[in-house]
Amino acid sequence: MTAAAAPRSRPPEPVIRAHPGQLRRVAVISLHTSPLAQPGTGDAGGMNVYVVETARRMAQRGVQVEIFTRATSSDLPPVAELAPGVLVRHVTAGPYGGLGKEDLPSQLCAFTAGVLRDEARHEPGWYDVVHSHYWLSGQVGWLVRDRWGVPLVHTAHTLAKVKNAALADGDRPEPLSRVVGEEQVVAEADRLVTSTQAETDDLISAYGADPDRVRTIAPGVDLRTFTPARGRDEARAALGIGPDAVTLAFVGRIQPLKAPDVLLRAAATMLARRPELRARLVVLVVGGPSGSGLAEPESLVSLARELGIADVVRFLPPRGGDELAQVYRAADVVAVPSHSESFGLVALEAQACGTPVVAAAVGGLPTAVAHERSGLLVTDHDPGHWADALSRVGLDQAERQRLAAGAVEHAAMFSWDRTADALLATYAEASRSLARDRAAGVAV
Ligand code: UDP
Repeated sequence: MTAAAAPRSRPPEPVIRAHPGQLRRVAVISLHTSPLAQPGTGDAGGMNVYVVETARRMAQRGVQVEIFTRATSSDLPPVAELAPGVLVRHVTAGPYGGLGKEDLPSQLCAFTAGVLRDEARHEPGWYDVVHSHYWLSGQVGWLVRDRWGVPLVHTAHTLAKVKNAALADGDRPEPLSRVVGEEQVVAEADRLVTSTQAETDDLISAYGADPDRVRTIAPGVDLRTFTPARGRDEARAALGIGPDAVTLAFVGRIQPLKAPDVLLRAAATMLARRPELRARLVVLVVGGPSGSGLAEPESLVSLARELGIADVVRFLPPRGGDELAQVYRAADVVAVPSHSESFGLVALEAQACGTPVVAAAVGGLPTAVAHERSGLLVTDHDPGHWADALSRVGLDQAERQRLAAGAVEHAAMFSWDRTADALLATYAEASRSLARDRAAGVAV
């Protein structure tokens, strides 16, 4: 006979903010990728940029931000300052190296314990809200929200069901465990933040999210870094590209879902149609492998060889800041051929630099790119259609200039300041409704 299990102790009564509208400190959870990592390779991409840019701006508004991420090296200090008012807290959970994103569900308990212990060193009520990014962080946020008695705001960034519906050849489907984990976070979060109405619709239709809890908040772009100023010639000179070159660029993590192969195939089609272009065509592919594998860039190099265009394709390692802006400015057109894309910050950054974008009409890209005004949207991944669109923008100077002007205008409608303001308003609103529910005795 086994002994009856002891009754589980209930979590302590949560602290209720005296002034729930006045935010002082936000806990941000970014378990699987650090805000200190260089985006464009490994697991670091748009989410990292989003977390960093919004954290900086919240701090500028007097709200401290503390970002919890998993320690991936013994050299990392427990706490690092990312910017004034923004701290990065490194939580030890599992070995520093050797674990891929797919292994991290095994470390959720260790990571959560680390976050709770860290917070316990402070006075009660240290954080006013917890904002989790990606489902793994959402699982952590779910528990700490209950322990701290604060609202959980969650941003999924990508959704397994949406990704699985748009798999490219060579992409592994997202596992059921992720789907279930996302469903749980969607059901638990006090507020869900999406980047576009399309993502909101997906969250409601595919995950059964409560529409009253979803807030659509557009991401932004740093218009000081991503600017047309200093021009194309200077950028081309820095990259060793001639002023007469026809330059097409892909920027991002190299993975089948982002479909850089479509750009290569389209470039080959352009050359087949107009062989004289070969002397002028330059295709830039900027970024590193996604996840921990090296296979994709290597297979892209082989593809360029197979297509007979290795002489026009240049692979450049990931880069940030002005060096990345230079790539955008050097290009006649930036291609974003993704099979699935929740938003597509690259599209916005390129347009802010005055470069039109040809993008796949999927996910958030129809929001990021204004069809026929700041670029073109292509409804499939047929290399012939991509060659048509890229030629129209890249080879017709008047058309390029018209779209370039529209691109700058379109990008200027997005701003991280507005994103941060809207997030802060969402945190405050979530705090108020939690306090109201508690006052009314609603079980939360
Ligand atoms: N990025 C970068 N350096 C690179 C390639 C990409 O800093 O060499 C950044 C890029 O500026 C953008 C982000 O990575 O902000 C990619 O975001 P996006 O939304 O386009 O794609 P995601 O990575 O989220 O799938």
